[in-house]
Amino acid sequence: MPLLGEPPPVQPFPELGRTIGASEFFVKRDDISAPEYGGNKPRKLELLLAEAKQEGAVGVVTIGGIGTNHGVATAVFAQKLGLTCHLVLFDQPVNDFVRKNMRLFARYGAIVHYTGSYAKTAFVVAKELIESRLTSKGKLVLVPPGGTSALGTVGYVNAAFEYAEQVEAGQAPIPESVFCAVGSCGTYGGLVAGFKLLGWPTRVIGVRVVDKMVTNERAVLKAANGALNVMRKHGAEIGGIKITAKDILMLHEHFGGEYGRATDESLAAVELAGRHGLQLETTYTGKTFAGMRAYLAEHPPAGPVVFWHTFNTVDMSAELATVGVDEVHPEFRKFFEDAPAKAAK
Ligand SMILES: *Cc1c(COP(=O)(O)O)cnc(C)c1O
Repeated sequence: MPLLGEPPPVQPFPELGRTIGASEFFVKRDDISAPEYGGNKPRKLELLLAEAKQEGAVGVVTIGGIGTNHGVATAVFAQKLGLTCHLVLFDQPVNDFVRKNMRLFARYGAIVHYTGSYAKTAFVVAKELIESRLTSKGKLVLVPPGGTSALGTVGYVNAAFEYAEQVEAGQAPIPESVFCAVGSCGTYGGLVAGFKLLGWPTRVIGVRVVDKMVTNERAVLKAANGALNVMRKHGAEIGGIKITAKDILMLHEHFGGEYGRATDESLAAVELAGRHGLQLETTYTGKTFAGMRAYLAEHPPAGPVVFWHTFNTVDMSAELATVGVDEVHPEFRKFFEDAPAKAAK
């Protein structure tokens, strides 16, 4: 079953572009990639959940911080496909986005396993997966963190091809540079591989927003080349093309020391983009915009610049309105005590 909607447009933001030195500036609107819930995760989940169904799973287990967008997306689309969704969640800084996602986990029927520390997650995941095979509850399969595996990354190779179709249809330019956030590396790895296959002179630049332990050049190479191998296995005629370190340009200076911590420059980016009608947030897209802004200031562009939006902006307020705080996971309710006005439905 397709989860994605119509290909999201490539939209010009000329005035916003001028403020950052890019006279031709466009946004690939993956924030509205799917009608139920947009952002970058649906492109990966469409492939990953189809595989889970094919393997006869009754549900999936995945991992993330307590405000994980990936967890929300997995819950939304698992429910749509009739799969149960187990979320194994560890601590991250709490803000309003995190609180919203906690309520969306409940809205979409996710079964939450809260571990507190990251160190305990692998154990809980293994326990759920093994138990599901030893009992008659039905098989659960793992959806990798962030939806990034070789197969999940193919979703973003496809996204590059979708972009090429939009170029062919006269709806988008061939970019000089493309910027995206880098977390579990599937989005960036897939775009690097996809744009290399297209053979354009485009430079795909990633902005790291997660700790270097997880997010690094090696992980990008693994995702990108893994995706190409999956495509070969399915008969894609792509020859011996290989992604190497030379294809990767990752900016590390905008992370701010902690996943989810709002940096001053990301707050400024969210504010600036918001004034021009582009909705960003501080964990991923604000840091990415800030990284792009700094890069362009040092390397003034001569051609089109594309910002690849990865955050969901589909309005979830009607869905949120159906979930009271008493319905969120019991151990999460304490995070709502200092924000009663926002938490109330
Ligand atoms: C998950 C996520 C990313 C990171 O994408 P990866 O493929 O995990 O690198 C970027 N932006 C947003 C908004 C996300 O939710």
